[in-house]
Amino acid sequence: MINEAPRVRFAPSPTGYLHVGGLRTALYNYLFAKHNNGKFILRIEDTDRNRYVESAVDNLIKALKWAGLQYDEGPDIGGIFEPYIQSQRLEIYKKHTDELIAKGEAYYCFCTPERLKNLKEEQEKKKLPQTKYDKHCLNLSTSEIENNLSNKIPYVVRLNVLPDQKIIFCDAIRNRVEFDSNNVDDQVLIKSDGYPTYHLANVVDDHLMKITHVIRGEEWISSTPKHVLLYDAFGWERPTFAHLPLLLNPDRSKLSKRQGDVAVEEYRDKGYLKEALINFVALLGWNAGDDREFYYLNELVEAFSLERVNKSGAVFDIVKLNSLNAEHLRKKPNEEILEMLRARIQETEFKIQNYSDEFLLMIIEAMKERVSFVHEFIDNCKYFYEAPKEYEKKAIEKNWKPETPMQLRKLRDAFSRLENPTKEDYEHALAKVSEELVIVKGKLIHPLRFAVSGQSTGPGVFDLLFILGKEEVIKRIDAAFENIKN
Ligand code: GLU
Repeated sequence: MINEAPRVRFAPSPTGYLHVGGLRTALYNYLFAKHNNGKFILRIEDTDRNRYVESAVDNLIKALKWAGLQYDEGPDIGGIFEPYIQSQRLEIYKKHTDELIAKGEAYYCFCTPERLKNLKEEQEKKKLPQTKYDKHCLNLSTSEIENNLSNKIPYVVRLNVLPDQKIIFCDAIRNRVEFDSNNVDDQVLIKSDGYPTYHLANVVDDHLMKITHVIRGEEWISSTPKHVLLYDAFGWERPTFAHLPLLLNPDRSKLSKRQGDVAVEEYRDKGYLKEALINFVALLGWNAGDDREFYYLNELVEAFSLERVNKSGAVFDIVKLNSLNAEHLRKKPNEEILEMLRARIQETEFKIQNYSDEFLLMIIEAMKERVSFVHEFIDNCKYFYEAPKEYEKKAIEKNWKPETPMQLRKLRDAFSRLENPTKEDYEHALAKVSEELVIVKGKLIHPLRFAVSGQSTGPGVFDLLFILGKEEVIKRIDAAFENIKN
């Protein structure tokens, strides 16, 4: 437990969907806050107007809420430091930039795009390790600046980065990180459209919103020296930084859309449970120091610490996600699965059918150990919902021998004599027939399953018969005589 109640934030730039990497960042922030009785804040960083996407904020909020990561302050619920959308805070950034200009820490730059382009090309020609602004406008006199401003010459505001400085900061995951200020450009703080850059807005807001820990993806580590310089320029205390390891494809390249889905919404729509996705994402870069893999969100809150976050990249292994999904599904009460199954049935050709709760609950119980997704309670066992339309050719050869019709006829007759049969009644009836025919039960069970379900695998055959009911079983055996020809 850390001393002061921490305040952390998830600060996405709305792009239209929530990236799984974003979910991991949000989750680690959430876990860290909750573990330490702190606050988790959602702040929308939408100052890049070129990337503005309509309804992106709503989608983000929806995805976070679906995942169960409820924040304590945020755009839709407000909070002591509102507004939590950067495009609504432009005055604040302006005021702070003016302060830096007055202190000589930042300066107006009136260079035209052409000049900047030429400068870059020259530097590239000289093969300089890095192209940088040449501080041309740093030396403008006050009257030149005033003139330019009153003539409405477009400008940006830049931070004056002093050369030959060591920029050192402490990272909770990477320990000491050092950059050379000669590699840091005089970054733009306010763009010519009047909007702040990510760097300025991010630092100002983290300070004003009293953020104690900045927990974000490793891709931001190269921005951190710029942020550190800004904290110093303002004379503000720096937060603790923690840069989370990259997410990788199985071939260890950076996780990309090309190799699979990256949007949380896509996983949700494919039928992944939020519990499984959260559990899986939590393990992308963190473990509790043992080999435990199954967690609920509240258990993650209990177990999480930044100290146990790894430095090295975390591979996104879809096989593991699938198996966690199966495990979480299996642990759900049947009544909860029933609700999800009913919703899923509504999306299929079976939606017009009126299945009873009792019937669906029996399917759930029979199939629970055999499925990984709710939709597999339908897709993997369509035979519960409709009589088989076709019988797999390869399986016919295996299950349908010349003597099979005679044997099944005996079974059919034995079943038809049963009254309201239980599972055990079917089992006894089959045992009797097998004795009569002097064959092992398996010789009857396989063709029987095949006849009633059209498949050679599935739940226990007596469960199958019981769930389908005697009338349906007999109907299907009769239909099999008609339909299976080998
Ligand atoms: N707006 C940045 C993003 O899109 C936030 C990075 C940070 O957390 O500082 O991820």
